[in-house]
Amino acid sequence: MKKIEVKILTPGGLYKETMASIINVISEDGQRGILPEHMPLVMILTIGKMELEEERRETYAVAGGMLYFSDNKCTILTPAIEKKGDIDIARATKAKERAEGHLKDPNSDLKRAKLALERALNRLNVHSL
Ligand code: ATP
Repeated sequence: MKKIEVKILTPGGLYKETMASIINVISEDGQRGILPEHMPLVMILTIGKMELEEERRETYAVAGGMLYFSDNKCTILTPAIEKKGDIDIARATKAKERAEGHLKDPNSDLKRAKLALERALNRLNVHSL
């Protein structure tokens, strides 16, 4: 069966290059599954989980970004991504508490705090799957 060449880029550079037979992501339009031979597409990713069917099914926490697919090649550009097993729970819990504190403070940047809370909750959720 054909596979998709996946490349994941972050501000730190190339996070991962892998082959996948299915990519499941959360886009602005909801959950989307991409199989080999899918038509070309560009998608905005929301903060959420991503699954790649590699040697086995791997789950990642993605902090939003963009996905481009064409000709069985997929590029994912994201501000941050962690594989389930790499998520630091203590760090995500602290980030959650910090963001919750900011959300209670009328002088803080509420949009920024809401996004920080979403990232932290996503990491905690993906870790618990
Ligand atoms: P924090 O306040 O803890 O930095 P954040 O949501 O602001 O959380 P990001 O800006 O999304 O963090 O990520 C910065 C870098 O730290 C990225 O490389 C990201 O993968 C990593 N990172 C953030 N939180 C965690 C975590 N809980 N476990 C593992 N890596 C993390």
